[in-house]
Amino acid sequence: MSKDILVYIECRDSNLEKVGLELLGEARKLASEDVKVKGVVVGYKLDKVVKTLKEKDVDEIIVLDDVAFAHYSTSAYASAVYDVIKSEDPNIFLIGATSIGRDLAPRLSARLNCGLTADCTRLEMEGDILQSTRPAFGGNIFATIVAPNHRPQMATVRPGVMLPIKNNNNKDTKVSPFTWNPLPKSNLRLIEEVKESKTVEKIEESKLLVSFGRGIGSDENMETGIEIARMLKGTYSCSRALVDAKRIEIDRQVGQTGKTVKPDVYLALGISGAIQHVVGMEGSEYIIAVNKDKGAPIFQVADIGVVADLNQLLPVLNKLIKKEKE
Ligand code: FAD
Repeated sequence: MSKDILVYIECRDSNLEKVGLELLGEARKLASEDVKVKGVVVGYKLDKVVKTLKEKDVDEIIVLDDVAFAHYSTSAYASAVYDVIKSEDPNIFLIGATSIGRDLAPRLSARLNCGLTADCTRLEMEGDILQSTRPAFGGNIFATIVAPNHRPQMATVRPGVMLPIKNNNNKDTKVSPFTWNPLPKSNLRLIEEVKESKTVEKIEESKLLVSFGRGIGSDENMETGIEIARMLKGTYSCSRALVDAKRIEIDRQVGQTGKTVKPDVYLALGISGAIQHVVGMEGSEYIIAVNKDKGAPIFQVADIGVVADLNQLLPVLNKLIKKEKE
């Protein structure tokens, strides 16, 4: 067994998904000096991807570039990535908790007869043992899980949780094409590819989020909040309470069953601060919370807490920001 950390770098349509860079960044943090950080990338027409990856602080990129991998298929990808893991024999294997990662990871762990900790929010090392922390029992507690007896130690991490790897132009990243065993005959045939046409703002990419909870109250309050977000060149997000009430679409939900966000400013309006919400936003640079209950748990993670009734505060805040912008 090697001491190395291998990361699955997800690509779609010959483009890198950000989560791969985030996992490489985390792997670099976990790796001691004698541990190599390697990435495996599977897809078709990967020249651009490999060029980008070569600029990163990675020791080796293992490339599987073939028309057979132009579209994701469980059996082909699982078979080829399994071959890479068997050949590399890494101590740790990390993969993004995306729809593809969530499909691929359990297939691999079953074939490799090793454990898999899904949806981790924190990774740490103790010696060569990976400590994978994730919410458990409905998110009310955090469990740290170890799998010391089998290798590789596998974990999935959601997009947006870790910081992306830095560039290192001085580094001589090795690029290794990989030859895989014949792929299994697939019983699936791609008939048509339908791409999502709606263009939703990506809350995880916004530098400022105005986030609404149940306490936002009326639609008029919400419209004012959205106006404030636009004036501050940001966008809006929400707690699950508003998604459940069908007032805001799920793409904007922050938290354990929503998205993980890390904006420069997170303005929480009428959000109580349940742990399932907080795990998705506590990494924000600066948190401002408004709540009429001074004992609301959100104040425990806020840099600034404002105890106020939003019905009164919002019109005043809106006026002040408008004046400032004139
Ligand atoms: P509430 O808890 O109802 O809080 C409303 C707050 O608004 C209160 O603190 C109140 O004091 C304040 N308020 C009311 N009126 C005003 C006013 N006029 N002015 C100022 N403040 C006011 N939740 C998520 O958000 N994201 C998740 O991903 C998520 N995943 C979950 C997964 C599981 C398995 C479970 C069990 C729950 C999950 N939840 C999630 C739900 C979570 O537990 C909470 O129920 C939810 O976050 C509460 O949303 P809220 O804070 O908007 O509403």
